[in-house]
Amino acid sequence: MRVLVVEDEPALRQQLQEHLREQGYVVDLAVDGVEGEYYGSEYDYDTAVIDVGLPKLDGIELIRRLRGRARNYPILILTARGDWQDKVTGLEAGADDYLTKPFHMPELLARLNALVRRAAGHASPLIGAPPLELDTARKEARLHEQPVVLTAFEYRVLEYLMLNAGRVVSKTELTEHLYEQDYDRDSNVLEVFIGRLRRKLDPDGTMQPIVTVRGQGYRFGLSTQRAG
Ligand code: CA
Repeated sequence: MRVLVVEDEPALRQQLQEHLREQGYVVDLAVDGVEGEYYGSEYDYDTAVIDVGLPKLDGIELIRRLRGRARNYPILILTARGDWQDKVTGLEAGADDYLTKPFHMPELLARLNALVRRAAGHASPLIGAPPLELDTARKEARLHEQPVVLTAFEYRVLEYLMLNAGRVVSKTELTEHLYEQDYDRDSNVLEVFIGRLRRKLDPDGTMQPIVTVRGQGYRFGLSTQRAG
Protein backbone atom coordinates (compact mmCIF):
# COMPACT_ATOMS: atom_id res chain seq x y z
CA MET A 1 0.00 0.00 0.00
CA ARG A 2 1.30 3.41 -0.94
CA VAL A 3 0.37 6.36 1.27
CA LEU A 4 0.93 10.09 0.81
CA VAL A 5 1.56 12.12 3.96
CA VAL A 6 1.25 15.91 3.70
CA GLU A 7 2.32 17.44 7.01
CA ASP A 8 4.42 20.55 7.68
CA GLU A 9 5.46 19.72 11.26
CA PRO A 10 8.79 17.85 10.90
CA ALA A 11 8.48 15.80 14.11
CA LEU A 12 4.97 14.58 13.34
CA ARG A 13 5.88 13.92 9.71
CA GLN A 14 8.80 11.77 10.83
CA GLN A 15 6.64 9.93 13.36
CA LEU A 16 3.95 9.23 10.76
CA GLN A 17 6.55 7.92 8.34
CA GLU A 18 8.04 5.55 10.92
CA HIS A 19 4.72 4.12 12.09
CA LEU A 20 3.28 3.76 8.61
CA ARG A 21 6.42 2.01 7.40
CA GLU A 22 6.23 -0.36 10.34
CA GLN A 23 2.72 -1.24 9.17
CA GLY A 24 4.09 -2.09 5.73
CA TYR A 25 3.07 1.08 3.91
CA VAL A 26 5.28 2.67 1.30
CA VAL A 27 5.34 6.32 2.40
CA ASP A 28 5.76 9.49 0.33
CA LEU A 29 6.22 12.69 2.33
CA ALA A 30 5.22 16.20 1.29
CA VAL A 31 6.05 19.23 3.46
CA ASP A 32 3.48 21.72 2.14
CA GLY A 33 0.33 21.93 0.04
CA VAL A 34 2.12 22.59 -3.23
CA GLU A 35 4.33 19.54 -2.87
CA GLY A 36 1.27 17.58 -1.77
CA GLU A 37 -0.57 18.62 -4.91
CA TYR A 38 2.33 17.51 -7.07
CA TYR A 39 2.65 14.05 -5.48
CA GLY A 40 -1.07 13.60 -5.05
CA SER A 41 -1.78 14.30 -8.72
CA GLU A 42 1.25 12.57 -10.18
CA TYR A 43 1.10 9.22 -8.39
CA ASP A 44 -1.57 6.68 -7.67
CA TYR A 45 -2.00 6.20 -3.93
CA ASP A 46 -3.98 3.77 -1.84
CA THR A 47 -4.66 6.47 0.74
CA ALA A 48 -3.46 9.88 1.96
CA VAL A 49 -3.07 11.68 5.30
CA ILE A 50 -3.37 15.44 4.87
CA ASP A 51 -2.92 18.11 7.53
CA VAL A 52 -5.47 20.91 7.15
CA GLY A 53 -3.12 23.72 8.20
CA LEU A 54 -0.42 23.70 5.54
CA PRO A 55 1.89 26.39 4.14
CA LYS A 56 1.61 27.50 0.47
CA LEU A 57 -1.68 25.73 -0.16
CA ASP A 58 -4.02 24.75 2.66
CA GLY A 59 -5.18 21.19 3.10
CA ILE A 60 -8.82 21.86 2.21
CA GLU A 61 -7.92 23.47 -1.12
CA LEU A 62 -5.42 20.67 -1.75
CA ILE A 63 -8.19 18.08 -1.33
CA ARG A 64 -10.52 20.05 -3.62
CA ARG A 65 -7.88 20.11 -6.33
CA LEU A 66 -7.07 16.40 -5.99
CA ARG A 67 -10.75 15.43 -6.12
CA GLY A 68 -11.18 17.82 -9.07
CA ARG A 69 -8.57 15.76 -10.90
CA ALA A 70 -10.42 12.54 -10.15
CA ARG A 71 -7.92 11.39 -7.53
CA ASN A 72 -10.33 9.21 -5.61
CA TYR A 73 -8.19 7.42 -3.03
CA PRO A 74 -9.40 7.71 0.58
CA ILE A 75 -8.14 10.79 2.42
CA LEU A 76 -7.87 11.26 6.18
CA ILE A 77 -7.42 14.84 7.39
CA LEU A 78 -5.65 16.01 10.53
CA THR A 79 -7.30 19.01 12.18
CA ALA A 80 -6.31 21.25 15.06
CA ARG A 81 -8.18 20.85 18.32
CA GLY A 82 -11.25 23.04 18.56
CA ASP A 83 -11.48 23.68 14.83
CA TRP A 84 -14.74 21.86 14.20
CA GLN A 85 -15.32 23.92 11.04
CA ASP A 86 -12.21 22.34 9.50
CA LYS A 87 -13.75 18.89 9.86
CA VAL A 88 -16.93 19.96 8.10
CA THR A 89 -15.24 21.83 5.25
CA GLY A 90 -12.68 19.04 4.93
CA LEU A 91 -15.34 16.38 4.58
CA GLU A 92 -17.28 18.60 2.19
CA ALA A 93 -14.14 19.08 0.09
CA GLY A 94 -13.87 15.32 -0.29
CA ALA A 95 -12.04 13.94 2.76
CA ASP A 96 -13.29 10.58 4.03
CA ASP A 97 -12.35 10.76 7.69
CA TYR A 98 -10.61 13.05 10.17
CA LEU A 99 -8.54 12.96 13.33
CA THR A 100 -8.02 15.82 15.75
CA LYS A 101 -4.47 16.59 16.90
CA PRO A 102 -3.02 15.34 19.14
CA PHE A 103 -4.04 11.78 18.29
CA HIS A 104 -2.84 8.31 19.16
CA MET A 105 -0.90 6.60 16.39
CA PRO A 106 -2.78 3.26 16.73
CA GLU A 107 -6.05 5.12 16.09
CA LEU A 108 -4.67 6.69 12.92
CA LEU A 109 -3.39 3.33 11.70
CA ALA A 110 -6.70 1.61 12.42
CA ARG A 111 -8.68 4.32 10.62
CA LEU A 112 -6.40 4.26 7.59
CA ASN A 113 -6.61 0.49 7.41
CA ALA A 114 -10.40 0.71 7.48
CA LEU A 115 -10.43 3.41 4.77
CA VAL A 116 -8.24 1.36 2.44
CA ARG A 117 -10.30 -1.76 3.02
CA ARG A 118 -13.63 -0.03 2.50
CA ALA A 119 -12.37 1.65 -0.66
CA ALA A 120 -11.76 -1.88 -1.94
CA GLY A 121 -15.29 -2.88 -0.94
CA HIS A 122 -14.57 -4.73 2.30
CA ALA A 123 -16.39 -3.74 5.48
CA SER A 124 -14.68 -6.27 7.73
CA PRO A 125 -10.94 -6.42 8.50
CA LEU A 126 -11.14 -10.08 7.48
CA ILE A 127 -10.93 -10.45 3.72
CA GLY A 128 -11.01 -13.57 1.63
CA ALA A 129 -12.95 -16.67 2.53
CA PRO A 130 -11.96 -20.11 3.76
CA PRO A 131 -9.67 -21.80 3.02
CA LEU A 132 -7.62 -18.62 2.55
CA GLU A 133 -8.29 -15.56 4.71
CA LEU A 134 -6.41 -12.39 5.48
CA ASP A 135 -6.74 -10.51 8.74
CA THR A 136 -5.80 -6.97 7.69
CA ALA A 137 -5.94 -5.69 11.27
CA ARG A 138 -3.44 -8.27 12.55
CA LYS A 139 -1.57 -8.46 9.23
CA GLU A 140 -1.90 -12.21 9.18
CA ALA A 141 -2.82 -14.78 6.55
CA ARG A 142 -4.66 -17.97 7.48
CA LEU A 143 -4.89 -21.09 5.42
CA HIS A 144 -7.36 -23.74 6.58
CA GLU A 145 -7.61 -21.72 9.81
CA GLN A 146 -3.87 -21.99 10.47
CA PRO A 147 -1.60 -18.94 10.36
CA VAL A 148 0.75 -18.88 7.37
CA VAL A 149 4.23 -17.57 8.10
CA LEU A 150 4.82 -14.75 5.63
CA THR A 151 7.55 -12.14 5.48
CA ALA A 152 6.37 -8.52 5.72
CA PHE A 153 6.83 -8.08 1.98
CA GLU A 154 5.06 -11.32 1.07
CA TYR A 155 2.14 -10.15 3.21
CA ARG A 156 2.03 -6.80 1.39
CA VAL A 157 1.97 -8.48 -2.02
CA LEU A 158 -0.82 -10.82 -0.95
CA GLU A 159 -2.86 -8.05 0.70
CA TYR A 160 -2.69 -5.89 -2.41
CA LEU A 161 -3.69 -8.75 -4.69
CA MET A 162 -6.54 -9.82 -2.40
CA LEU A 163 -7.88 -6.28 -2.02
CA ASN A 164 -7.94 -6.15 -5.81
CA ALA A 165 -9.23 -9.69 -6.25
CA GLY A 166 -10.69 -10.59 -9.61
CA ARG A 167 -8.80 -7.80 -11.36
CA VAL A 168 -5.51 -8.20 -13.22
CA VAL A 169 -2.79 -6.26 -11.41
CA SER A 170 0.21 -5.45 -13.59
CA LYS A 171 3.76 -5.82 -12.34
CA THR A 172 4.20 -2.06 -12.72
CA GLU A 173 1.18 -1.38 -10.52
CA LEU A 174 2.42 -3.83 -7.90
CA THR A 175 5.88 -2.27 -7.83
CA GLU A 176 4.44 1.24 -7.59
CA HIS A 177 2.24 0.35 -4.64
CA LEU A 178 4.71 -1.85 -2.78
CA TYR A 179 8.21 -0.45 -3.23
CA GLU A 180 9.87 2.71 -2.01
CA GLN A 181 10.75 5.00 -4.90
CA ASP A 182 14.49 4.61 -4.64
CA TYR A 183 14.23 0.85 -4.48
CA ASP A 184 15.64 -1.31 -7.25
CA ARG A 185 12.41 -2.28 -8.98
CA ASP A 186 13.36 -5.48 -10.68
CA SER A 187 10.34 -7.38 -11.92
CA ASN A 188 12.29 -10.65 -11.70
CA VAL A 189 12.50 -10.11 -7.95
CA LEU A 190 8.74 -9.69 -7.85
CA GLU A 191 8.34 -13.00 -9.65
CA VAL A 192 10.43 -14.66 -6.97
CA PHE A 193 8.11 -13.31 -4.27
CA ILE A 194 5.02 -14.44 -6.16
CA GLY A 195 6.58 -17.89 -6.50
CA ARG A 196 7.29 -18.04 -2.78
CA LEU A 197 3.75 -16.94 -1.94
CA ARG A 198 2.31 -19.62 -4.20
CA ARG A 199 4.40 -22.32 -2.52
CA LYS A 200 3.30 -21.17 0.93
CA LEU A 201 -0.39 -20.72 0.11
CA ASP A 202 -0.88 -23.60 -2.25
CA PRO A 203 1.84 -26.19 -1.64
CA ASP A 204 0.18 -28.93 -3.70
CA GLY A 205 -0.89 -26.59 -6.53
CA THR A 206 -4.62 -27.36 -6.33
CA MET A 207 -6.07 -23.93 -5.44
CA GLN A 208 -3.99 -21.65 -7.67
CA PRO A 209 -4.86 -18.50 -5.74
CA ILE A 210 -2.54 -16.29 -7.81
CA VAL A 211 -2.98 -16.67 -11.55
CA THR A 212 -0.45 -15.31 -14.02
CA VAL A 213 -2.15 -13.53 -16.91
CA ARG A 214 0.44 -13.70 -19.63
CA GLY A 215 1.85 -10.33 -20.63
CA GLN A 216 -0.51 -8.50 -18.23
CA GLY A 217 0.20 -9.41 -14.64
CA TYR A 218 -1.36 -11.33 -11.78
CA ARG A 219 -4.89 -11.95 -10.63
CA PHE A 220 -6.01 -13.22 -7.25
CA GLY A 221 -8.44 -15.91 -8.23
CA LEU A 222 -10.20 -17.22 -5.14
CA SER A 223 -13.44 -15.70 -3.95
CA THR A 224 -12.92 -12.89 -1.45
CA GLN A 225 -16.59 -12.59 -0.57
CA ARG A 226 -17.36 -13.75 2.92
CA ALA A 227 -20.49 -15.69 3.54
CA GLY A 228 -23.15 -14.11 5.74
CA1 CA B 1 0.16 22.22 10.11
